[in-house]
Amino acid sequence: MPKRCFNCQNTNTDEIFEVYGYDVCIACKPKLGFYQDSTIRKHIRTFENEKQIVPEKLSYREEVDQRLKFGEASYHRKRLKLLHIQARLKEIKS
Ligand SMILES: [Zn+2]
Repeated sequence: MPKRCFNCQNTNTDEIFEVYGYDVCIACKPKLGFYQDSTIRKHIRTFENEKQIVPEKLSYREEVDQRLKFGEASYHRKRLKLLHIQARLKEIKS
């Protein structure tokens, strides 16, 4: 299967590279909004400060891990729902 930017469908292989398992083109990468390390450090400190007040709160690392886990489950639920609709559309005659 040819490389294709997941975001804009660009298929120019010279402009596409792999980012955490996704094929992304050079034009779309800046639009992903990746944080600078300084921003990530600021979030770590914010979470540490909150955790000093409420010890049960998650660390920034735990929060990110949890968001990824829930985001993945949400993605699969939405995809399954659409696959079901697609399958039903093949069966239902209107
Ligand atoms: Zn793209």
